[in-house]
Parts: sequence; C-alpha cells; structure tokens
Amino acid sequence: MTLVYASELKRFSAGERKYAFLIPSSMVLELDNEVRSILDALEDGPKPIEALTTSPGAEGALRELARVGAVHRDGAPDIPLTQLATPPEPPPLSTIVLNVTNSCNLSCRYCYEYGEDRLEEPAPAQVMSVETARQSVDTLFAESGRNDKLQITFFGGETLLNFKVIGPTVDYARQRAREEGKFVDFSLTTNATLLTRKISQWLADNRIGVTVSIDGPKEIQDSMRVYGKTGMGSYDIVAPRIKELLSIYTTRPIGARVTLTSKVIDVPKIFHHLTEEMGFYEVGFAPVTSSTGLDYAIDGNGLDQLLEQFRALGERYVEAALAGKYLGFANLSDMLGEIHEGVAKAYPCGAGLGLLGVAPGGEIGLCHRFAGSGDHDFGHVKTGVDASKRIEHLERGHIDKRIDCSTCWVRSLCSGGCYHEAQVRYGDRFRPNLHYCDWIREWTAMGLEVYAKLLDGNPEFLDRFDQRKVA
Ligand code: SF4
Ligand code: SF4
Repeated sequence: MTLVYASELKRFSAGERKYAFLIPSSMVLELDNEVRSILDALEDGPKPIEALTTSPGAEGALRELARVGAVHRDGAPDIPLTQLATPPEPPPLSTIVLNVTNSCNLSCRYCYEYGEDRLEEPAPAQVMSVETARQSVDTLFAESGRNDKLQITFFGGETLLNFKVIGPTVDYARQRAREEGKFVDFSLTTNATLLTRKISQWLADNRIGVTVSIDGPKEIQDSMRVYGKTGMGSYDIVAPRIKELLSIYTTRPIGARVTLTSKVIDVPKIFHHLTEEMGFYEVGFAPVTSSTGLDYAIDGNGLDQLLEQFRALGERYVEAALAGKYLGFANLSDMLGEIHEGVAKAYPCGAGLGLLGVAPGGEIGLCHRFAGSGDHDFGHVKTGVDASKRIEHLERGHIDKRIDCSTCWVRSLCSGGCYHEAQVRYGDRFRPNLHYCDWIREWTAMGLEVYAKLLDGNPEFLDRFDQRKVA
C-alpha cells in the first residue's frame, strides 16, 4: 500500500479563492476543489493513494500536487528544508560594495556606524584611494567566475564626500568589463547633502542607480538626521538638491530609503511626502537596527503600529495595481518579487554569498556594514578574498543550522534575518533575529494575500517581477 503525505505548506485565502504557500519552495498554488479535498484528506496524516484517487479528476490533481512538491509518496524523501544545500565552494561574486569613505557630514542619531550600535570604536576618518578602488574592482572580476552581470555599489559614510574616486572607478570597471565580455552596473547611496547640479548630471549621464537616505518631511527628517557639531536638521539642505536631481535624472527610477525609529512611525505621511511631494519613484522603509533599550528602538507596540500602516499602504498598492498603476512601496514590491520568483533562501541575504563589502582601507567584509570591523574581515583587496572565511560563513550561516527557524513557515523567505542586526543584538551574526519573528510572519502573510489578489485580478502586473533581480 502506497501512502501519500502532505509536504509542508501554509493555506490561506484571498477573497473567495483558496491558496497554499509551499514552504520549502516558496511557491504559491491556487487550490481548486479537487486539490483542496486531497489536502483536506491529508490534514490529519498520510492516506493510501487509492483513498485519494477516487475520480479521474482527483488523479490529475494528485499528479499535479506531486509535481510541484506539495505531496510526496511513502518512502520518498520530503523536499529538503530548503532547495539549496551549502555550496561546496564559495559561489562566484556578482556584487561588491565599496565604502568609499567611513566619514559622514551628518551625525544621524541612530547610525550603526557612529551611534551606540557600532561594532567597534569608530576608525579614524578614512577615504578610499583610487588605487584601492581599482583593486576592489579587480577583486570583483577575479571572483566573478561565470557571472557576466556584475554590480558595483558605492557607499559610505557619506559616499559623495569621496566623489572624486567614483568617476575613475566607473571608467576602470567599464574597461575591465569590455575586456572580459561582462556587463557592470553601478549604484550609489547618498544622504543628498552634497549633491550639486554637476554631480546629478554626471549620475544621469552615467546611469548610476541612486538611492537617497531620507526620513521624510522636515519635522521628521530633522529629528534624527542632523549635522554633528550644531545639531542642525538637514531637510532644508537636501530637499532642493533632491528636487534638482529628480528633475535632471529622469531615465532611471530613483528611490528613497527611510529609517524608522520609535520617534518616527508615520508611514503614510512619509510616503506621501517622498512620492507625491518630492517625486521619488519608490520608498523603502527599514526599522532602525538597534540593541534593546535605546530610546529610538521600535518596541512591540511600535511594530504593531508599523504593521497596520504597512497593511494600509498594501491596500493602496493593490488598488493601484488592479488599475494597472504602480505604487512605489518598495518593501512590498521586494516581497512580491521573491514570491513570484519562488525564491527559496538558504541564506538571509547576499552577504558572503554573491556579495562582499570593502572598507576604505581595502579590508574585505561580509557586506558594507561589516567591512573594516576586525574579526569580520574576509581578506584584503591587495591579497584577495579569504576563501576559507567564506566557506566557514556559508556553513555556519545556512538555514539548516538555525534550529529555531526549522519549523517556521516563512523560513524560505526570511532565513533568519540580517547578520549585522544579529551581531549588534546578540553578539553573534549567526543567531536568527528572533525578536522580529511574529512581525515577519504577519508581514509575509500580508504579502501572500496581496500576491494572490494580483494573481487573480491583474496577473500581467506580476510580469514586472519576471526579470527582477532580488538581492
Ligand atoms: S528568524 Fe524567525 S521569522 Fe525568520 S525564519 Fe527564523 S523563526 Fe522564522
Ligand atoms: S541584510 Fe544585513 S547582513 Fe545582509 S547585506 Fe544587508 S546589512 Fe549586510
């Protein structure tokens, strides 16, 4: 007698329709009546195949469920926890983040680099030299293997404090790409305080992807994003510069990145200001990374509030999408992209996997946040990437090693959360960020519902995620 087992899945509804989220593969499956009755029958345990295939329709439904991995036969192995095993050797790099300076002209009160959550005492001010930037580019190409689409991101401190290194690095990387038959794209994050017409024009001419760190309208921006010596807010400096950038650079979408703190949880107001009043294409929100007890850390009530605000913005997103329009709520787009691709993550992000960061002095780190922080170094651009450190990281960071996550239904999307946040909070980057789990699960459930509504109401809208690169 052959027994059939249900694989791990989470069922959910959107309107009248019923769906299942297949946990190991992140696939969304719409459930018709035949499929539903098979899954209903398997809810209280395995059943003989004959008991499930009492009609020709049921046979087809069972075959389809087996094909997508929603059920498996007796003796057949269940789909592994994730589809990705620990890579036997570090995968080729696709992205390198250059911290072109560790200095900043602002002293945002929550900054991981300068605030109470830094991993080490601040290093003396450093700027990356053109030579180190070139060696970083060489490192990327040397480690890129079969990847022919590469990404170089310029970061800081405040990136534009060392603008002079960026142009030569872009030219050099393009030359290397031509020689190697590869394509290289560039992006940059800035606080916008140093943008000038000339820089904005250069960014546009070179099609550099730009993300602006900004927290919202004047009273919100000025509460945390301030100049160090005077404590003066930065809104009046950045607003005209951003408007000029957006008026000059119209050929590539420009996004804003907002850091939310306990003092600033007003998503609708911030979103309205940054999209409608300033003209950003997209806005991404990130709750501040902090250890507990800091007055700007977002507590449980704040997280509930945030979820409600995300829910309301999500409803507007669906409304717009059903009318064929795009509402630039980047957090939701990112999740929809992952669901659409069926991303099954064995690691929370690309850090150490296809991405590494480089500190101004050339020390290689797991990502831009770890670069230059002693114990976390992964080599140096002069001597190359320390492969053994990457192997160790990939072994210890794999989702299969995170016992707390092993029964969690969102593990193939969350995979434990940001290493840097875990390092700050628990002193161990491999610890899952368990303080966010309920929030992540509710937010993911919300994303699945949105996905299903779009699948039903305007599936063409989801085509935009077909080619989307998810970091
Ligand atoms: S960190 Fe929490 S939400 Fe994320 S996979 Fe682990 S248990 Fe699930
Ligand atoms: S999610 Fe965290 S660990 Fe990963 S790249 Fe971002 S900051 Fe670094």
